[in-house]
Amino acid sequence: MTKIVIIGGSFGGLTAAFELRRQLGRRAEITVVSETEVFAFAPSFPWVALGSRLPEDISIGLDRLLTRKGINFLHAAVQRIDPAKQQVDAGDRLLGYDYLVVATGAHLDFAAIPGLGPEKGYTHSIMTLEHAVATNKAWQQYLEKGGPVVIGSTQGVSCFGPAYEFIFGAEHALWKLGLRDKASLTFVTSEPYVSHFGLGGFRQAGRVLEDEFAEKDIRVFTNAVVEEVQPDRVILGDGTELPFKFSLFVPPFRGVDAVINSGLGNPKGFAVVDDYYRHKSYPNIYVTGVAVAVAPKEATPVPTGVPKTGFMTEHMSKAVAHNITAEILGREAQALPVGKLDVTCIADLGEKAAFMTAKPALPPREKTYLKKSRWAHRLKVLFERYFLFKLKRGMMNLP
Ligand SMILES: Cc1cc2nc3c(=O)[nH]c(=O)nc-3n(C[C@H](O)[C@H](O)[C@H](O)COP(=O)(O)OP(=O)(O)OC[C@H]3O[C@@H](n4cnc5c(N)ncnc54)[C@H](O)[C@@H]3O)c2cc1C
Repeated sequence: MTKIVIIGGSFGGLTAAFELRRQLGRRAEITVVSETEVFAFAPSFPWVALGSRLPEDISIGLDRLLTRKGINFLHAAVQRIDPAKQQVDAGDRLLGYDYLVVATGAHLDFAAIPGLGPEKGYTHSIMTLEHAVATNKAWQQYLEKGGPVVIGSTQGVSCFGPAYEFIFGAEHALWKLGLRDKASLTFVTSEPYVSHFGLGGFRQAGRVLEDEFAEKDIRVFTNAVVEEVQPDRVILGDGTELPFKFSLFVPPFRGVDAVINSGLGNPKGFAVVDDYYRHKSYPNIYVTGVAVAVAPKEATPVPTGVPKTGFMTEHMSKAVAHNITAEILGREAQALPVGKLDVTCIADLGEKAAFMTAKPALPPREKTYLKKSRWAHRLKVLFERYFLFKLKRGMMNLP
């Protein structure tokens, strides 16, 4: 029987696992290896941090989810991949494979900037469920005293949405609690302009979000390099000092150690793939989601990366599943170049949200749509429930 090993138990890994099971039935033995035991719905992390969701509202244990579908689950951190022997070293287990799917996301490189991050630094984070939970505690403590808030995305980020969502959510929460006059809010981003998003901009999003920042009285620094964070201030590359009582930053991204140490990554640790999501050097290794290297369309003055959203990740994983199935069953593979991936995203702005869609995500584009409204916020809430409802039933094949 064909052996398929999938590393990663999130959007990329689960979509690939369910789709492969659906398309191949019992023709393949599928094993998912993940260092996290639960799937957590990342788009809701800002809400966890601000206290409107509990971790259990948005997370599901992987073991039950997968084994019910006849997919093996191994809770372990992969140390190395040996493409020559077709083996994965998962600590005390060696797993052989015919096909490997790498869906390992990114390493959050807090160590790249002195004083950055929740573990060894002074800034909070919403990039993992654990971070979001810890941030909620710090946010509750902050609310007792108030003071300046500095939120942002550092150089080398390729996921800009969370910082926008957190600052607008925080502003709305402060306003609802009657504490807005106790806080000055500052937004810092490595993007050359508001709403560049690592995608070269997005229709009228710049104007919409600039208006939103102005209406909400939030100071903005673009093209910013975070040089250092001290216990009470962020220091930018041009020497600007931003004092804070609460600060949260999205860190630079790089590929995970398992990919880098196995020689499968580019200099930043992301894997270069062909139009079928096959690794450029090892055609039986497929890569999906954030782990894929995507070259920016344009160089920005301060380095930024191209986002690989949940929506894009699902589409990559479906292509991966289709193409592995095609190889096994002798059917035709389908190309889906990363440059042709579409994106749909709802950026929450507190009581409203911006609904955005672009075909393709990277310019030049055939079609774009953007609407800021209350219904978009409600849609984001409904989407969360719909996604988790479907996932609990082993389905991730969204539109
Ligand atoms: C706060 C936040 C908000 C977001 N909001 C949105 C949104 O509104 N819409 C949207 O489309 N996208 C959103 N995203 C982006 C979306 O979450 C990502 O696109 C998606 O998570 C990428 O999935 P992935 O499977 O590639 O990687 P990840 O979700 O990062 O998953 C990586 C998986 O690999 C596992 N792993 C890593 N290394 C190893 C190893 N060595 N051994 C074993 N397992 C390993 C991890 O445990 C994890 O299970 C958001 C992201 C964040 C952080």
